[in-house]
Amino acid sequence: MSVKAHESVMDWVTEELRSGRLKIGDHLPSERALSETLGVSRSSLREALRVLEALGTISTATGSGPRSGTIITAAPGQALSLSVTLQLLTNQVGHHDIYETRQLLEGWSALHSDPTRGDWSVAEALLEKMDDPTLPLEDFLRFDADFHVALSTGAANPLISTLMEALRLSVADHTVARARALPDWQATAARLQQEHRAILSALRAGESATASSLIKDHIEGYYQETATAQAD
Ligand SMILES: [Zn+2]
Repeated sequence: MSVKAHESVMDWVTEELRSGRLKIGDHLPSERALSETLGVSRSSLREALRVLEALGTISTATGSGPRSGTIITAAPGQALSLSVTLQLLTNQVGHHDIYETRQLLEGWSALHSDPTRGDWSVAEALLEKMDDPTLPLEDFLRFDADFHVALSTGAANPLISTLMEALRLSVADHTVARARALPDWQATAARLQQEHRAILSALRAGESATASSLIKDHIEGYYQETATAQAD
């Protein structure tokens, strides 16, 4: 997998969208033209496009007609997610970096949260799903990450939510191995759920300073616990 080709294609798509030369729904240039523009080989370009397609950033349809060819289907919120994922996969970013970034984003977000605007019912529904003791650990962690994204919507800063969304899969997937190493997952899950409910009720009540400190403790507690459990 070529990180460089992904990055140059994504940079190019981002720049074209930013400048307005391309819009969602527009066709990408031909492979030949694009590989020349970007200075990457056709095979690297094809690989990069496959990854972007898997991420839902572009869509490829064969045949003729206006929808055939390669079309941009989503703005690069996913690009951010791809970038974070690639940096994690290639060890340019570690758990500690994610932990610090979450502290910053989520602590700030809770502090600036407006009790009248967050997706609290979405957050509540996720907690109910996580209460199921038979829920597989991977699913719990994914719902947990979704829950944190839902909490961040109270801050009325769409960029914060986009950043949280970009971190979401990384937060979920990259803690699976660490969570598996915990001696008693059920006990950890029960504690996390207690903390989640305390955070949510503080946000709902408009107790933003309390919510901010609870959420930072929650992120730190889990980080410390899984860091200790991890064998390597
Ligand atoms: Zn959590």
